[in-house]
Amino acid sequence: MSEHNIQSIRGMRDILPPESDLREQLMNKIHHKLHQFGYLPADLPLLEKTALFQRTIGSETDVVTKEMYTFLDRSEESVTLRPEATAGAVRAIIEQGRAQQVQRLYVEGAMFRYERPQKGRYRQFSQVSVESFGVKSAAQDVELIQLAYELFQELGLISLVRLELNTIGLPEERQLFQKDLVAYLQNHRQELDEDSQRRLETNPLRILDSKDPQVQACLDAAPALLDYLGSESQQHFEQVTTLLNALDIPWRLNPRLVRGLDYYCHTVFEWTTDALGAQSAVCAGGRYDGLVEQLGGAATPAAGFAFGVDRILLLLEQNAIWQARRPLIYMVIASFAEQAMAMQWAAKLRQQFPDDAIVLHNDYQSLKNQFKKADKSGADFVLVFGEQERENQQVNCKDLQSGAQHCFGFDELVAYLTAQKDKKCQ
Ligand code: AMP
Repeated sequence: MSEHNIQSIRGMRDILPPESDLREQLMNKIHHKLHQFGYLPADLPLLEKTALFQRTIGSETDVVTKEMYTFLDRSEESVTLRPEATAGAVRAIIEQGRAQQVQRLYVEGAMFRYERPQKGRYRQFSQVSVESFGVKSAAQDVELIQLAYELFQELGLISLVRLELNTIGLPEERQLFQKDLVAYLQNHRQELDEDSQRRLETNPLRILDSKDPQVQACLDAAPALLDYLGSESQQHFEQVTTLLNALDIPWRLNPRLVRGLDYYCHTVFEWTTDALGAQSAVCAGGRYDGLVEQLGGAATPAAGFAFGVDRILLLLEQNAIWQARRPLIYMVIASFAEQAMAMQWAAKLRQQFPDDAIVLHNDYQSLKNQFKKADKSGADFVLVFGEQERENQQVNCKDLQSGAQHCFGFDELVAYLTAQKDKKCQ
């Protein structure tokens, strides 16, 4: 490639077929699952005022301090490409006068974080962020978890992921805990890595999910957040676990799960996998009751989570769970004289087989060449439109797998294809 060719920006990737086709199949399954649970799509701007993220995600979090794509627009206003969708969703429901109403929404699309790119971690990535507003119960938290559980089951991924669960209680409880945690860690300062030492001043709770083994060992004897919960928080968590058990959804308590963003309370959860190396979280979320009020809206309980689409797609690809979709029919056309007939038949076949792809060659190369393309497309059947076929209003149909060939009028062709499709499905 010439050095003059412009390349994509680091961490921003192109997704082309067949990967893009697997991704579309994944999105279809996600949409279907959300529909089954009564969640409706919301389409929100990719660009928001920077202050929105500073005030919601937390000014000391990694996302806000290091990872945001922030710049001045032409009127010198500081704007940011959304690093996640919950803040925008909360802003929207307040601005549209919908706070306090019960709403089940989802926001899907690109998110932007200036992280160090590696497998499963990109600077532009895709999430489906699922948000429930107006319901305070533990049942609502469990409904979100159940939605993800059913989806992972239907995607064939349930054996590759596990649910980690924790409660981080209420902000007051967390503050007490944080005070004791900081006091404990200050006494063990020399055992902390550089990052954790810095966090001791800025965001001490994040030290809990440090990956450093020495820090982990030091935390074994540290105060535990669970001991600081009051009765409301305890009851909420007990109800969550009771319902999960009743639904036979396996979970694992991870007392060090605190999540990177500041706005959570009570339930937090993460679906993780061992199959993607360092990028183990595929889906994460929790309850964020205070966030609507924090942004100036009327107090509205809320909970939500985000599917990491890119990582789920990697899991599907690595485990060869799906194939890219292939056409049912590839049409080989001898010359322009047969083109109209081929297009008319294609239109009628698409009505008969609305979920299948019917692909036309549309360029009058040698039949041999066209058959090669048909093979490459992975189509089940080739239909040949030549002079004779045009005169007889019949086509030659070849099953590319068995090699069987027949000449059919339109209705016979439909009957034959229907029977063959039934057979292949069995
Ligand atoms: P978070 O908003 O950080 O809770 O992330 C929710 C999910 O989005 C994670 O579990 C990941 O699956 C996915 N995710 C977060 N950051 C990235 C990234 N930089 N690249 C790809 N996926 C990501």
